[in-house]
Amino acid sequence: MDLSKKVIVIMGASSGIGAATARLLAQDNAKLFLAARRIKRLDEIKAKFPAGHVETFKADVTNFDEVKRVIDAALNEYGRVDVLYNNAGIMPTAPLIEGRRDEWQNMLQINIMGVLNGIAAALPSMAENHSGHIISTDSVAGHVVGPDGAVYSGTKFAVRAIMDGLRAEQAENNIKTTIISPGSTGTELFNSINDPDQKQFAKNFFKNINGLQPEQIAQAVEFAIGTQSNMSISELIIRPTRQS
Ligand code: NDP
Repeated sequence: MDLSKKVIVIMGASSGIGAATARLLAQDNAKLFLAARRIKRLDEIKAKFPAGHVETFKADVTNFDEVKRVIDAALNEYGRVDVLYNNAGIMPTAPLIEGRRDEWQNMLQINIMGVLNGIAAALPSMAENHSGHIISTDSVAGHVVGPDGAVYSGTKFAVRAIMDGLRAEQAENNIKTTIISPGSTGTELFNSINDPDQKQFAKNFFKNINGLQPEQIAQAVEFAIGTQSNMSISELIIRPTRQS
């Protein structure tokens, strides 16, 4: 796909779905602004595309100033952000009875405030330009709550509500919104699970249902970005065929 005219910011681009999307969009010649905490990983992606336009930023999505710095870099260079992809997330699932309040706090901050910080940083210029596209990675867990996933699902239900609200507010302003809701996908996300039983459960689940690869989710993001200006993909739910 030719995306050479698109200025695209990806928050959470250092591994998994974000990194696969960055690689695919770099092949499409998009102007990419990649952010995450592990800058070395971002620079490794950048090094694979020496002829492309890839800029990297060390940014924590819980810190609004750091998020804004990435958006401002794109605005300074191109005068616009065409696409903001809020993809950063963690999934430290555990039974509520364990009372892991620090993990709950981290999930709320990264999975919800991270998305809101992205919106706060990018939306004003998009609204002014009457053009733009905000994409957020949600989850099948944003539709279905299983045991031990209450807080993670809570954050992903919240992201869906925020994105629906964003669409309701900004549709007439010509802003596209897309929710990407993957099922089980083979990434480093399982490393964010600290409860050993949960970690094993997630790995077994992925294996037993022949889970997806991050490159497959990247194709869905690319499709949403490539649509014509009068067409907005509100949500894509991408399950492994064997995930009910
Ligand atoms: P990874 O762990 O491979 O990727 C997570 C990404 O989020 C990394 O780039 C990481 O970068 C970034 N990130 C995490 N915390 C922060 C932070 N505070 N600031 C900036 N970036 C951060 O997992 P996935 O690729 O699977 O996860 C991507 C998204 O997909 C998440 O929102 C996840 O909830 C969602 N998802 C994943 C599914 C799966 O089965 N894998 C299923 C459904 C949804 P760094 O650590 O360098 O900061």
